[in-house]
Amino acid sequence: MALKPAQLAWEETLLRERLKFVKELKAELQQPDGAAAQTVQAYTSLIDEVIADVALEVHRAVQTGVDDLSDVQHRLAAAGGQPPAPALPPLPLPVAKGNMVDVFGNVVPPVALDQVACPNCNRKVAAGRFAPHLEKCMGRGRQASRNANKRLSAMDM
Ligand SMILES: [Zn+2]
Repeated sequence: MALKPAQLAWEETLLRERLKFVKELKAELQQPDGAAAQTVQAYTSLIDEVIADVALEVHRAVQTGVDDLSDVQHRLAAAGGQPPAPALPPLPLPVAKGNMVDVFGNVVPPVALDQVACPNCNRKVAAGRFAPHLEKCMGRGRQASRNANKRLSAMDM
């Protein structure tokens, strides 16, 4: 459909006005102390801060196991974002199997290794193995009572 000359003239005027506005805005933005440049800079730092907050929150949730990376991608897609790029490579496991990691990424041994002196025999025992040692050492607990039963039944014979 062809435009009438009056419509064309109106369109040209509109485009020239818009072009003029863009040129004025560009000139204002090129003055670093101007209100326009300062406003854009303030908004930019606000948006950067919000993005960093969200990124840190998601990172922390995924690292601590509160959230799952595939769940995050699913929610992003559901919110109208771009569907995730085909199959992100899986994140490497933080450490080898069997080791635990605290929230700071430090490796935590599966058994507490601090040395504790046994009050009964004075031997040094790893803190994680102190309870079973004390059970045996003091002659209390399940194993000790089993041993006592064995001794009793042996005496009966
Ligand atoms: Zn002991």
